[in-house]
Amino acid sequence: MLTPGNSADAGLDLWSRSDVQTCTSWNAPIIWEGMFNPRHYDQIHRDEGSSVALTVFAIGRYLDAYLEAFLNSSENHFMVSLPVSYYVFTDTPEKVPNIKLAPDRRLTVVKVERHRRWQDISMMRMKAISDLIESDIRLHSTHVFCFDVDQVFTGRFGPEALGDTVALLHAHYYHLPEMLFTYDRNPKSKAFMKTGDFYYHAAVFGGSWKSVKALTEACYKSIMEDKKHNVEALWHDESHLNRYFWLHKPSRVLSPEYCWDTSIGYRTDIRVQRLLWAPKNYQQLRTS
Ligand code: UDP
Ligand code: MN
Repeated sequence: MLTPGNSADAGLDLWSRSDVQTCTSWNAPIIWEGMFNPRHYDQIHRDEGSSVALTVFAIGRYLDAYLEAFLNSSENHFMVSLPVSYYVFTDTPEKVPNIKLAPDRRLTVVKVERHRRWQDISMMRMKAISDLIESDIRLHSTHVFCFDVDQVFTGRFGPEALGDTVALLHAHYYHLPEMLFTYDRNPKSKAFMKTGDFYYHAAVFGGSWKSVKALTEACYKSIMEDKKHNVEALWHDESHLNRYFWLHKPSRVLSPEYCWDTSIGYRTDIRVQRLLWAPKNYQQLRTS
């Protein structure tokens, strides 16, 4: 039963948005504009000493196409009140633009191999993130957020989004019935799902470093298991992520205000746009 009043998070007013679902069946809040006082979250996370690692991959043509705009916009909007460590994974470190960072924010470039297939580039992020949490992130940051690079911040993306495990409602599916969710439907895949809660978007996920380590490790293991059996999940890492969040319910869910696609058009429930999908020419980006 939904009991929004019992949410553990005192900073949220779950009744303040009556036009949208603000709480999951397992009592995790779904964060929408108007439910919280931003200054409250800035303050409690500063008091708690929270710090955030942001991971982003810019491999092949994605670096020139998206990285600079992503990082510049992030400096203006992402966790502005907290220390942030960026980790840029790329095959061409020499091409990473020089971004002027605010105090208390730093950027590390991590060189990675370029997989031939874009599906593998996307999936193998799970392994790279998990390894880096173990070797570096866990020593410096309390939380981790993982982003696709083909997006631009346009509004506050602040500490109200921090939690133990954080998932994002996919902009194209949040208002659709479950039967239309594009879960993996092949029983041979480790990502197979018959039923689920929501359709989550893999372009943004996060949580405490411990939880993100567990998540990325589990997804990587499932991906490798599939490879062993010569199967690939319908939407690659996103399919595995959806299954993981079905088995391990996120403690906090972000509304599509946290990753909106303007091609959907106007929606009354989207009161702010915090992060937007960037335009994409797949053919140009993905052909080598
Ligand atoms: N990516 C990359 N180079 C590639 C393919 C993917 O850097 O050639 C990274 C990049 O961060 C990208 C993410 O993997 O945002 C996921 O791929 P993409 O955005 O193309 O997937 P989509 O959002 O279209 O499902
Ligand atoms: Mn993307």
